[in-house]
Amino acid sequence: MAGISIREASITRAIVNSALKLLSEYSSVDVAIVGAGPSGMTAAYYLAKAGLKTLVLERRFSFGGGIGGAASHLPSIIVEHPVSEILSKDFGIKIMDMGDGLFTVDPAEMIAKLAVKAIDAGAKFLLGVHVDDVIYRDNPPRITGLALYWATIQMAGVHTDPFFIESNAVVDATGHDAEVAAVASRKIPELGIVVRGEKSAYVGVAEDLVVKYTGKVIDGLYVTGMAVAAVHGLPRMGPIFGSMIMSGKRVAEIIIEDLKGNH
Ligand SMILES: Cc1cc2nc3c(=O)[nH]c(=O)nc-3n(C[C@H](O)[C@H](O)[C@H](O)COP(=O)(O)OP(=O)(O)OC[C@H]3O[C@@H](n4cnc5c(N)ncnc54)[C@H](O)[C@@H]3O)c2cc1C
Repeated sequence: MAGISIREASITRAIVNSALKLLSEYSSVDVAIVGAGPSGMTAAYYLAKAGLKTLVLERRFSFGGGIGGAASHLPSIIVEHPVSEILSKDFGIKIMDMGDGLFTVDPAEMIAKLAVKAIDAGAKFLLGVHVDDVIYRDNPPRITGLALYWATIQMAGVHTDPFFIESNAVVDATGHDAEVAAVASRKIPELGIVVRGEKSAYVGVAEDLVVKYTGKVIDGLYVTGMAVAAVHGLPRMGPIFGSMIMSGKRVAEIIIEDLKGNH
C-alpha cells in the first residue's frame, strides 16, 4: 500500500498547511453566518449562489441544528406551502402531502441536502467553532465581524484569545438564544439592541411574523430563524419548520440587496 511510505511529519504538514490556508482565506468574507441550523443553511445556499463569499460558523461538529430533533423526536419535519415547493425545487428534498395543507420531510434528508446545496453553491462551513463576540465600529455604528474560538476550548472552560473574522454582514442564525444579538446587546448597550425572548405558542401568526421581522438588527448585523422570535419577542410555533426556511431565504435576499454596492 502506498501509505506505508508516508511519514508522520508529512501528515502534520498537510493538516496545518491546508487548515491555515483556509483560515487565512476566510479571515475576511462578505457574509458570516453563525449557526448551521435550517435558517442558517438556507441563507448560506442563497447567499453563496448569488456569488457572495459566505462562511458558516457552527459550534457542533455536525450540521442541522434543531432539525435532527425534528417534531418531538419523531422523524418527521412539518412544513406548509409554499415551503414544500421550495424544498422540493431548490433543494431536491422529497415531500409527502399529509392533507390539511401540511407536508412532511425526512429530517436526515433535510439536513444532508440543505448542507450539500449550500456547500455546492460555494458556502464554506467551519465546524466546532464557538462565536463569542462581535467586532464593532462606532462611527458610524456597525458590526464588522466576529470573534471566535474552538468549541473544545469553550467546553474546557479555559481562557484563550479569539480569532477574528471580518465580514460585511453577520447573520445571527443561532436559534432560541439569539447568541450574537445577545452579546451585542450586553457589550454594546449604546446600540439599544434588546433581546426580548420568545413568547408562548401561537402557530397561526408566528410563522408569518418570523419571516416579517427577519432582517437587519443594526448595520452589519442580521437575524434569521428562531433568533428572530427571540430578538423581537414573537410567539413560538412549535414543531413546524416552514418559517425557518422562508426566514433563511428572506435574510439572504435582504443582504444581497444591501451588499449590492460592494461588488
Ligand atoms: C426546546 C425547543 C423548543 C423548540 N421550539 C420551537 C418553536 O417554538 N418553533 C419552532 O419552529 N421550532 C422549535 N423547535 C425546533 C427547532 O429547534 C427549530 O425550529 C429550528 O431548529 C430552529 O432553527 P434555527 O435555524 O433558527 O436554529 P437552530 O436549528 O437552533 O440552529 C442554531 C445552530 O446554531 C449553533 N450555535 C448557537 N450558538 C452558537 C455560537 N455562539 N457559535 C456557533 N454556533 C452556535 C447551534 O449549535 C445550532 O446548530 C424547538 C426546539 C427545541 C429544542
